[in-house]
Order: sequence, then C-alpha cells, then structure tokens
Amino acid sequence: MRVNHMDIKHFKRRIYTQGITPIQRLNHLTELLQGPEVYVKRDDLLGLLGGGSKTRKLEYLMADAIEKGADSIITCGAVQSNHCRLTLSAASLEGLDCHLFLEERVKNSYNPKANGNNFIYHLLGATSIHVISGDSDLVSEMDSFAEQLKAEGHRPYIIPVGGSNPIGDLGYLNCIEEILSQEKEMDIQFDHIVCTSGSGGTHAGLLAGVKDNNRDISVTGICINRMKELQTNAVYHHAVKACEIINSKVKINYKDINLFDDYIGEGYSKPTPQMIQAVILLAKTEAILLDPVYTGKTMAGMIDLINKDYFKKDEKILFMHTGGIPGIYAHTDEFMSN
Ligand SMILES: *Cc1c(COP(=O)(O)O)cnc(C)c1O
Repeated sequence: MRVNHMDIKHFKRRIYTQGITPIQRLNHLTELLQGPEVYVKRDDLLGLLGGGSKTRKLEYLMADAIEKGADSIITCGAVQSNHCRLTLSAASLEGLDCHLFLEERVKNSYNPKANGNNFIYHLLGATSIHVISGDSDLVSEMDSFAEQLKAEGHRPYIIPVGGSNPIGDLGYLNCIEEILSQEKEMDIQFDHIVCTSGSGGTHAGLLAGVKDNNRDISVTGICINRMKELQTNAVYHHAVKACEIINSKVKINYKDINLFDDYIGEGYSKPTPQMIQAVILLAKTEAILLDPVYTGKTMAGMIDLINKDYFKKDEKILFMHTGGIPGIYAHTDEFMSN
C-alpha cells in the first residue's frame, strides 16, 4: 500500500528518451548458466549522447537547473566519466555552459588525448575542464568554482558526483514505475534486480521504488569502487532521502541493502579477468556490449552469484544495463591482448 504517496509525475522533468527502454530475455545466457531466467533492462539505449543511466537522473536535474534559472552546469567524475559525458550532452542540448571537474581516482590517469568519454568531452566542447587529484575535496572545489562564476555574473548549478542526490535519484524511482508496467505487459514478475552500485543513486532509487510500490523484488548491488560497509551507508542514506522526496512513508532497512564487494579487483576502473570474460561472453552470445568499469564487473558478479546458487533456479532476474559503452573505447588494449 502506498501511504501518502506523492506521484513522481509532479516533479519537473525534461524528456531525453523517446518512449521506454526495452526489457529482453537473455536466452543464450540463461541456457548457458542453467540457473534462473535472466532478463536485461536496456538502459544503455537511453537518450543523450552515448546513452546510459545518468540520462534518467539528468531529466530531473536539468529540469531543476532550468527552473532555477541556471546558465551553467558544474559537475564532476572520474577521468573517463559517463556522468560527465551525459551531463555535458544535456547541457549542450539545453544551451548551457558545462564545467567538468575530473578526478584522478587512479594516479596520473588523465590523458587529454584519450579516446572514450574523454573524446566526447572534446567533441562537445566542455566550457572548462579541471583535473584534480583523487584525494581532493570535490564538493569544496566545485563550490569555490561556483562562487567564482557567480562573481563573474553567472548562475551556476552544481550536479554532484554521479548525479546522485534526491532529485537525480527520482530517475530510478521512475524507472521502477516503467519496469512494473513492463512486467504487466510481458506477464512476468521479477524476483531480483541486479545493478551496479557506484555513487549509489541508481541502487537507492530502485530500492526505494520497489519498496514504495510494495513489490517483493530484491535489489542486489555490485560494488565497483567502495567496499560493502561504506557503500551500504551511502545506499541507505540515498534511499531514505529518495523516500522523503516523494513523501513515501515506507521504511528502508539496512537488511534491504544487498551488496557484494568481491568483484572490484584491484580497484575502480582496473580490469579483472572475470570482467573481460563477461564482456566477451555478452558480446558474442547476446550481441550486447557492456562497459569495463561498471556493467562488465556487475555482469561478472551476477554470473558468479548464479554459479554459486545465490539465486534460485525458478526465479527471474532483471539485470540493469546502465550503459557506459563509450568508456570501452578507452580500454581496448585490455581486450585486444585477450
Ligand atoms: C554511473 C554509472 C553507474 C553507477 O550508478 P550510480 O548511480 O552512480 O551508483 C553504473 N553504470 C554506469 C555505466 C555508470 O555510468
């Protein structure tokens, strides 16, 4: 039962995707693994340049920025950030300036000539690019830059890392509404959703959406950066705030947050042999391209969990393909040597 539910449709939203993203059954993977039925939500096909999950968050964030009269967007991410690419794409579309703070999470990883997302920063022409070290305080860096822009007469709007804040997290609350309508149409019910857990907004939005709709679907996140304990706190706080913003009275419990940190390997964006195998497997058997930093590691995690019978054979899993595809073109060497 929804208690005091505020319809998400009341929030201002820009539309960057025509229609909804498909859900398809992964026939070959399902057969190969001899486990639960696996489906994929094709959020790699979302709008804006190169697609991916940040598009859903940006529909709400950009609407908020425009409503507040912003003339420039400031955001941040890793040196090969899907979020920065998509924010820049949305800003270009809306005719706003866009300033990027790129954090070297891996030391000396910024290469101004790199392919992938970096290439698109240049193609679209970010208003400015600031490369900062991995141990910097991103929030204060962006805040002080915003003050500087204001002093020059601009009206900046800051979007946090991953577009994850209560407004951005509406994107994946809304995605749940979409998934539930597709369940009806396809006459199936999912038991599990598997997603990447990065800044945490996707995971939290999905969890809050499932709970708010009183659906018995577990949401399992695969860590790609932070370890489980820190990540659990991040997802918990995002999910609680997501419930608050839609005025939902459902309670988020720590035990609702399923996370696995066994698939990170040496660290954020560092390849693992299982990720490489998973990317090749999905490309060959399902004609689906994953990305090396997020969805490739998440798919490797899901396959391992299926092999370990974490999910039951008669269950249905929905894998969230959150995109990131342009990022693979900055990592081709790792695949060529295989
Ligand atoms: C940002 C990103 C994620 C993680 O989403 P969060 O909301 O930050 O947890 C997953 N996949 C891709 C491709 C991404 O770019």
